[in-house]
Amino acid sequence: MSTSGPRVRIAPSPTGEPHVGTVYIALFNYLFAKKMGGEFILRIEDTDATRSTPEFEQKVLDALKWTGLTWAEGPDVGGPHGPYRQSDRKAMYQPYGQELLDKGHAFRCFCTPERLEQMREAQRAAGKPPKYDGHCLNLKAEEVTARMEAGEASVIRMKIPTEGSCDFHDGVYGDVSIPWDSVDMQVLIKGDGMPTYHMANVIDDHLMKITHVARGEEWLASVPKHILLYRYFGWQEPVWMHLSLMRNADKSKLSKRKNPTSISYYSALGYLPEALMNFLGLFFIQIAEGEELLSMDELADKFDPDNLSKAGAIFDVQKLDWLNGRWIREKLTPEQFIARTLEWASENERLTEGLKLSQSRISKLGELPQLAGFLLSNDVGVTPASFSGLKTTPGETLEIINTVQADLEKLVEWNVEAIDQELRAVADKLGKKLRVVTPPLFVAMSGSSRSLPLFDSMALLGRSVVRQRLKIAATVVASMVGSE
Ligand code: GLU
Repeated sequence: MSTSGPRVRIAPSPTGEPHVGTVYIALFNYLFAKKMGGEFILRIEDTDATRSTPEFEQKVLDALKWTGLTWAEGPDVGGPHGPYRQSDRKAMYQPYGQELLDKGHAFRCFCTPERLEQMREAQRAAGKPPKYDGHCLNLKAEEVTARMEAGEASVIRMKIPTEGSCDFHDGVYGDVSIPWDSVDMQVLIKGDGMPTYHMANVIDDHLMKITHVARGEEWLASVPKHILLYRYFGWQEPVWMHLSLMRNADKSKLSKRKNPTSISYYSALGYLPEALMNFLGLFFIQIAEGEELLSMDELADKFDPDNLSKAGAIFDVQKLDWLNGRWIREKLTPEQFIARTLEWASENERLTEGLKLSQSRISKLGELPQLAGFLLSNDVGVTPASFSGLKTTPGETLEIINTVQADLEKLVEWNVEAIDQELRAVADKLGKKLRVVTPPLFVAMSGSSRSLPLFDSMALLGRSVVRQRLKIAATVVASMVGSE
């Protein structure tokens, strides 16, 4: 293990389906480490206990593994600076909170959620940005002790300079200056003793000897808080690089409403990880036209962290499709192609589970592609005609699809039981029988009203493919509503 080269990390929060944006940042860090002879590490940032789940953590790990990236240290492979999951490090953060209190860089805050809400309400009414007003900033030490002893709940907040600005250099943005009065007195340790993202992130980056922090531009505004923590602790701060976010073709922020953003969506549809990495890697290098088809080694070779653009990486699906096609046709031998196809079809047991569900519904094996093919298809080709045989009117069908779409987003776990329960709840909510709610969903998922059991099929297709099929179905049915 080298100790002299740079150390970089990806620090995902397991609060949702692994996002292409996470892989984009991970790839940057990976290429950076590879190019500079450094180390790339993985840390799971699950301090938000209400939103982080083990299921999502597993998915993050699976998605990152699927991409072909490897890390020198991480929750799955261990390493000298572990544990690499923040919830397992809880006890390590406490002394640092105390240190900041002792040095006078932080203070205990007893404000109740109600008081904070009133404060924000008043700020909103006055047209001011919400920011802690310093109510507990100057409490006397005796008062703090007495309130603590009385068992009153409190958090630890950081002190912020009252004048001047935080000036720093960013590898992408250049010289940045952010006035201190726009920086909030951030909570560092929550009432339950867990650190917030900012506190845990800085402490861990220091303890894990991270030298360069490369992450999405949405964190640029947090740098002053982070720099201040480095200064308060007397630690050397890392080099900052805030990468422009990926955007849709219309320049809006990449979001699942416009483009599928989950890695699982792209793997389910049969994109090759090499092609996705090739596509994302092109955002970090300068090449001439005709040189686009690049392996990871070639990407690392051409990688140039000094020439990064603020312009925003456009997620152009057509370009990804083009590259994926080229990878399939030009980079795989016939044997590799067959092996990869079988591997893909078997992902998440789609093939075996699909066959099990089909057994009682066919009389000849040749019926299988028609019956179960939708589990592997890219697009089930729904048209207004697909929905025209339903008992519900297009207006009702649309309401069902939209309600299901919104309610499925709330599911924390994605499995047959959870989907079953949720769809029953949707039926109740709409005042309809379950057998009225399910037919439009059969069509949306499979393109046909004769298919495999709905809940099992949805569980097998996965959250991101279901989301996309419902979205397409909603567009088709919406076109029918006008012409009712
Ligand atoms: N946990 C943060 C995220 O999910 C990490 C941000 C950072 O890299 O500092 O984006």
